[in-house]
Amino acid sequence: MNSHPKLFSAMRPNGPLHIGHYFGALQNWRKFQYEYDSYFMLADISSLTNQYDPELNLAELMENVVIDWLASGIDPSQATIFIQSRVPEHFELAYLLAAVTPLSWLERVPSYKEKIEELEHTDLSTYGFLGLPLLQATDILTYNSKFVLVNEEQLANIEFVREVARRFNHLFGREEGFEEKALLSIKKLGSKKAEIYEQLLMQYQQEGNEESLERARFLLQDALNLAHGDRERLFAFLENKSKVIFNEPQAIFEKSTTIIGVDGQKMSNKANNCIHLRDNKEDVSKKIRLMPTDPARIRRTDKGNPECCPVWKLHQVYSSEEVREWAEMGCLSAGIGCLDCKQPLIDAINTQLAELKEKARPYEEDPTLVKRVIADGCNRARDVASDTLKEIKQTMNINY
Ligand code: SF4
Repeated sequence: MNSHPKLFSAMRPNGPLHIGHYFGALQNWRKFQYEYDSYFMLADISSLTNQYDPELNLAELMENVVIDWLASGIDPSQATIFIQSRVPEHFELAYLLAAVTPLSWLERVPSYKEKIEELEHTDLSTYGFLGLPLLQATDILTYNSKFVLVNEEQLANIEFVREVARRFNHLFGREEGFEEKALLSIKKLGSKKAEIYEQLLMQYQQEGNEESLERARFLLQDALNLAHGDRERLFAFLENKSKVIFNEPQAIFEKSTTIIGVDGQKMSNKANNCIHLRDNKEDVSKKIRLMPTDPARIRRTDKGNPECCPVWKLHQVYSSEEVREWAEMGCLSAGIGCLDCKQPLIDAINTQLAELKEKARPYEEDPTLVKRVIADGCNRARDVASDTLKEIKQTMNINY
């Protein structure tokens, strides 16, 4: 696509996008698409692992999400826009990685533990749900992305992706003459224990069989347990001698804004408290007018406190300093009513949405346009993914 480093980010198709998606992700995607070779994926198969509704028209839902992306300024000539299930290489690669990923790593992924507790009434005891972090890791590693755009909650998952990449590199990125080099390095350590390392390594070499690098590391670790001081140096050496097959991706954590829903809680489709990107003017007006305000401000004549009001949080995002000052003073002095206060917010949201709806219109009027954007993106993604799969199978010696 372009010569910039690769960047990956994904979204699940959970419903039409709302202003929380815009400020939480899409405005960063729009910015980064010009700085990176960006891959933006709709994770349809991942979304099946904790919600599966056969009645749902997922194809139509995804087309609408892509229209929301395009309306928000994601440019298919800059970024590769694609759907996870239309790049089947992900699933083959996920299984190859599954073969070498310890079960305990999956069980300790924080998002797994949290979701199990949070969704105690949903049956999440499936193989798919447990394996979800590995599928996510595969999504990222398929494109050998150097960077992943995430929010704060996903940071721990990126550490897991890095571990998966590192382990694969150690297992399959072994260079010719590895043992000899390791032995030389150990001798240079000059430790008394060097003799023990040497004996262990010679023993390993004399066995002459094709045991894995893991076995060598195990022997070394055993020896190193006797000489803690040298451990770091030797491991640093060993890591340098592993060829990089997968990049260990870095998380880009760009500060995003959490948007409050019209009920005062975090905005989400599940909570049904959203202002969607293509809501009409009347719906936006109605939703904001019905929003709760400072609960202590019961009558128009009561003075309010903006800090206790969810409407004020939306003013922080949408209003100019001048409007915010007017709202704050009017609230604190009871100089304005809550409906007065909400009106400039309604206007600002409608102005933003009018622009987005204008950009969405050609795609709404001609659905073949969005289908083409998706098809082109999936083809581009498949080209990269099939090269990666080929390389990995070759590395694992299963390219027959
Ligand atoms: Fe909230 Fe504005 Fe009403 Fe104050 S005047 S309580 S900030 S809506």
